[in-house]
Amino acid sequence: MNNRAMEYDFLGIGFGPSNVALAIAMEEHAASHGTRAQFAFIERKPSFVWHGGMLLEDADMQISFMKDLVTLRNPRSAYSFISYLHAKGRLESFINLKTFFPSRLEFNDYLSWVAGHFEDRCYYGEEVVEILPDHGTGTDDAVRRLLVRSRDAEGRLHERFARNLVIGVGGEPLVPEAFEGQRDARIVHSSRYLEHLAANPGLQPRRIAVIGGGQSAAEVYMDLIQRFGDASVSLIMRGGALKPSDDSPFVNEIFNPGFTDYIYWQPDERRRRMLDEFRNTNYSVVDVDLIERIYHMLYLQRVRGHARHALLASRDIERVMPSADGIECLLRDREEGGAERHVYDLVIVATGYRRDAYQRMLAPLGTLLPEDGFGVDRRYRLRTCESCEARIFLQGACEDSHGLSDTLLSVLSIRSQEIVEALHDRMLPALDAVPHARQAMAEAVPMSQ
Ligand code: NAP
Repeated sequence: MNNRAMEYDFLGIGFGPSNVALAIAMEEHAASHGTRAQFAFIERKPSFVWHGGMLLEDADMQISFMKDLVTLRNPRSAYSFISYLHAKGRLESFINLKTFFPSRLEFNDYLSWVAGHFEDRCYYGEEVVEILPDHGTGTDDAVRRLLVRSRDAEGRLHERFARNLVIGVGGEPLVPEAFEGQRDARIVHSSRYLEHLAANPGLQPRRIAVIGGGQSAAEVYMDLIQRFGDASVSLIMRGGALKPSDDSPFVNEIFNPGFTDYIYWQPDERRRRMLDEFRNTNYSVVDVDLIERIYHMLYLQRVRGHARHALLASRDIERVMPSADGIECLLRDREEGGAERHVYDLVIVATGYRRDAYQRMLAPLGTLLPEDGFGVDRRYRLRTCESCEARIFLQGACEDSHGLSDTLLSVLSIRSQEIVEALHDRMLPALDAVPHARQAMAEAVPMSQ
């Protein structure tokens, strides 16, 4: 093992919005507390981009710009969206837009602008391939640090030690069973949508399917219709209709950072019920304006008497068979039971994301985990056995324990502060271990109750 490798107070894996927010919180904590920490991030992508495959021209944010990387924690921060607008000379013009919801293109530019301030902290273009326990110079069983191995684009291996690790790697494409293992260039997950189009400039598909009934599917569906004027595009979904996302104000309180305490301290069964109850704020739902645009487009087709594009609701995809003619999909009507066969030149699979990549990364540390597997405390620290002194924190993979805001921008500013405090051991010690505190939190209620 390479003991000459650099040792960090913490390493962040992934440099998306969560870990960029953490970099800011570290810098601001250092400025206000006079602390110094040795830290860096490792990012697989060659440079910063936020959901590059879905940066569609006319897609807007669904979360207020005030829930940027810092404002809820520190409205005076130099890294707020307003500071960005000011630096870019667009503050006044943005005000004239009269909106809380900038385009995703602009928000990506904001995030890139912030990430650019921490360029020297991030090793871009390196993929973490292994995380191993390390005893350091000690002679006992204690795991004092972790060895993080990553590989760069030229295939070179890099090794670094970390006394703390913060994993914030975002989601990975989730695909229906019928598409699993299919390696065909004509089948593309929505997360790679624009990259696929850019890599295939001559593409002229005539028959296109989009699978899914969420925001990604709806946005890609309309984009394809506008982009390929001669194509016929079908949206294929399991649900009976496109449903609107609930972003009404009382419901929106579940995304207040303060709600995290409330939901975390609920009994498991009640927390699960709450996650189910509010699922339609985020998953399998579409912005109502977009639903109305889709409805209007399909209605106009009927007026013209030429139904080129379709919305096939209540359909399961039973089988997918690529051939020279195209991608053949066998669909089953969930209500009537009838089967249909369709052939497509291009299939965009917009079926969402899974967030368990960290489990694969941490598999070599399996013996350091308690018997009941992966679980985090209130401050996002993975529970490990006592002999593991190295600490691991998860960002964006704690929805089951910390609520629906965990995968969203809404809590980033506050969560990063909580993790910074934990890293500095200044947080309230182990709230989990204090029964009366736990009880008090469970009884706290959000504003609307
Ligand atoms: P999603 O909301 O999880 O929706 C996934 C869709 O795929 C659902 O309709 C689901 O159907 C379907 N699906 C999943 N497994 C399937 C299977 N085995 N067979 C058939 N269909 C299946 O994912 P998303 O649309 O990618 O959105 C993810 C997140 O990104 C959301 O928070 C969304 O708001 C956000 N987003 C934001 C923007 C924006 O800000 N403009 C744009 C895109 C996405 P069921 O309903 O039947 O499960």
